[in-house]
Amino acid sequence: MPDNKPIPLAALRKLLKWYRTNKRELPWRGTTEPYAVWVSEVMLQQTQVKTVKPYYERWMQRFPSVAVLAEASLNDVLKLWEGCGYYARARNLHRAAVQIVSQNNGQLPKSAALLQKLPGIGPYTSAAIASIAFDQAVPVLDGNVERVLCRLLLERRLFKTTAVQKRLRRTAEEIMDSLGSQMGTPGELNQAMMELGANVCTVRAPQCKICPLKSVCRGHQKLADPGVLPRRKKSKPLPHYDITAAIIKRRGKILITQRPHGGMLGGLWEFPGGKQEKGESLETCLAREIREELDVDIAVGKLFQSVKHSYSHFRITLHAFSCTLPRGRIRKLGVTAFRWTTPHEFSKFAFPKADRVIIEKILRRA
Ligand code: SF4
Repeated sequence: MPDNKPIPLAALRKLLKWYRTNKRELPWRGTTEPYAVWVSEVMLQQTQVKTVKPYYERWMQRFPSVAVLAEASLNDVLKLWEGCGYYARARNLHRAAVQIVSQNNGQLPKSAALLQKLPGIGPYTSAAIASIAFDQAVPVLDGNVERVLCRLLLERRLFKTTAVQKRLRRTAEEIMDSLGSQMGTPGELNQAMMELGANVCTVRAPQCKICPLKSVCRGHQKLADPGVLPRRKKSKPLPHYDITAAIIKRRGKILITQRPHGGMLGGLWEFPGGKQEKGESLETCLAREIREELDVDIAVGKLFQSVKHSYSHFRITLHAFSCTLPRGRIRKLGVTAFRWTTPHEFSKFAFPKADRVIIEKILRRA
């Protein structure tokens, strides 16, 4: 395919035909209902399809409409999202639902520009909703589509540069513009490109032999292995942090605290504690963190369990210690709320994954 020329119509037809025959059966496929499209697209950001499926089905049962979601408590929303990661997505869905009900009569806006004014909806999600739910001719540029385009165009420059991103967008817009109404809908074209990237033009082993675009793909024609594209900067190793947590027991109950709503894992519950500073022992760190967060002095006992966990930008080891609170009155200095709960009440609250591992051990011993 020559530089920056849209895909010829014959190839576009092949792509759409391939999609209609080969698309995966997914719970959100077959609906163009805006709320369902929105929920599925938000869940699919940074999370694999097989992980999303059960979350999506549970979510649509529990919160079947924007109105029901807007009325739910944030704790219920986070509880349902528990384990799906990137919790800001759940908080933003909830905030946006409240906004849609109060300002837009419960209806999602139709244009990508207006959709982007809602919390948690960026260029990718707005394009997906606008095209799939409202037939707007806006191309979606997610990681899958960007990869397909880089290979189609034989784009050898570093992928995240502004020039390359502009070229990919321009090409995606040209492809969308060339779509005739009798050929298919914008939503179908976007989903066909995403599906091709997810299932055929995969990250490491593109299956060019079965690809509907192979006759126009310069990467396939010029390279022994188009899988070398897109070109990325080598990523640095993830930093590692040691985090401490206190299992503070009092009369058969254990203290849990709620993280501030704004930051990472915002609104989730956890065993209180925090990050080890340079030169500090784990025990000293824990006592300091509890003083800073809750204004009390604890007695730090034995190590109960250490749990390793990876987030997108760093790794942690969470060290949980058995602790007691000899005296003092808790004040909420660095937490949103606190509760004394029995181990069997933990299931009512949403916890991060690493804390869940500790809970399982507590429950086995209870
Ligand atoms: S021909 Fe190969 S490299 Fe080109 S789009 Fe298809 S799968 Fe990707």
